[in-house]
Amino acid sequence: MRQQIEVKLHAKSVKDITKGYPLLAKEAMESSEVAMEEGSLLRIVDPNGRYIATGYYGLQNKGIGWVLTRKETEKIDAAFFATKMKEAIAKRARFYDAEDTTAFRVFNGEGDGIGGLIIDFFNGYYLVSWYSEGIYSFRDDIYQALHEVVEVRGLYEKLRFNTNGQYLEQDDYVSGEKGDFPLIVMENGMNYAVDLNDGAMTGIFLDQREVRKALRDHYAEGKTVLNTFSYTGAFSVAAVLGGATGTTSVDLAKRSLPKTIEQFAVNGIDYEAQDIKVMNVFDYFRYAERHGLKFDVVVLDPPSFARTKKMTFSTAKDYPKLLKDTLKITNNGGLIIASTNNASFNMKKFKSFIDKAFTETNTRYNILEEYQLPEDFTVPHNYPEFNYLKVVFIKVMN
Ligand code: SAH
Repeated sequence: MRQQIEVKLHAKSVKDITKGYPLLAKEAMESSEVAMEEGSLLRIVDPNGRYIATGYYGLQNKGIGWVLTRKETEKIDAAFFATKMKEAIAKRARFYDAEDTTAFRVFNGEGDGIGGLIIDFFNGYYLVSWYSEGIYSFRDDIYQALHEVVEVRGLYEKLRFNTNGQYLEQDDYVSGEKGDFPLIVMENGMNYAVDLNDGAMTGIFLDQREVRKALRDHYAEGKTVLNTFSYTGAFSVAAVLGGATGTTSVDLAKRSLPKTIEQFAVNGIDYEAQDIKVMNVFDYFRYAERHGLKFDVVVLDPPSFARTKKMTFSTAKDYPKLLKDTLKITNNGGLIIASTNNASFNMKKFKSFIDKAFTETNTRYNILEEYQLPEDFTVPHNYPEFNYLKVVFIKVMN
């Protein structure tokens, strides 16, 4: 039997939770007298004991759990999860119907009413990501619900908890047809190779869909493009398909080379005509400067934190420096596509990093476009802090 615990909110948090804030922060409530277990259902009450919401306990770095409902009598069972999924799927009807896009997010955690649960669609296959042991304890009900509401060709899952940031090698296959990887998915008419059973990542970050499209449709024609932190080269593919005269993809990970070759190949692009460098981006900046290399378009999409033997990099601290290095190898009149998925700062702060870099180098700039999460990455209404993606297209003016 699942443990049920009553937890009392501190007075100052009652309004937030009542109005729709989904995350249960440790500081928001009194510590409960009974030890909470992962997956415990929480009856959340105000300081006078009046019912506010029902949630579950599941430790993530963001908080200790999530609100599931504000209806006192609502049961948390397979029918509850099926209702949430139906609502989420109805919102993605446009994606299910699209002929030129076969990969998208079906269920975006707190944005769709169940924090800690992410479901992505890849050409008939579903990939479920579990962000706490707590949400994972509802696995049977959630899979029953998923099968009730959609036709699942094959099911894979990623366990993203209890790993100390490390990805534990495991077989991610759950049920249905096994994928013949790489699986080819389509995004706005471009092909991408994905593998749902090869470590923590799949080969493509679906949240950058609109950015890749903008690069292909409006900024690549006739340009030289440098793609830093390129991973499988998804931006490079978009650039070539948009008419770029050449791309250079730079990533430290050895596997980025075969993976990038694969992404080019599945789009019929001659990868030998493109430059793929397995190296540290910061070394590449020095290399490019020494050789007088300059680019028309530079994509900057670093991880929030990166550590190599020689250095550590954090977007919250070092983004201005990254932009300054980039400016040295960007042509006048060129474009920098600056991206970050660091949830610890917002768009305003990100723009202040951009301004700092350009002001300190006496360079004028013009912001042409901004992107945040696309429509399928639903964010809770009124809580933009869950919209972690920030992408700014910056034209370098002199
Ligand atoms: N821009 C990519 C996603 C980047 S993921 C895309 O759109 O698909 C972050 C990547 O940065 C990883 O592939 C990682 O290997 C790489 N990386 C981390 N630190 C790096 C460094 N110092 N130099 C080069 N690549 C680095």
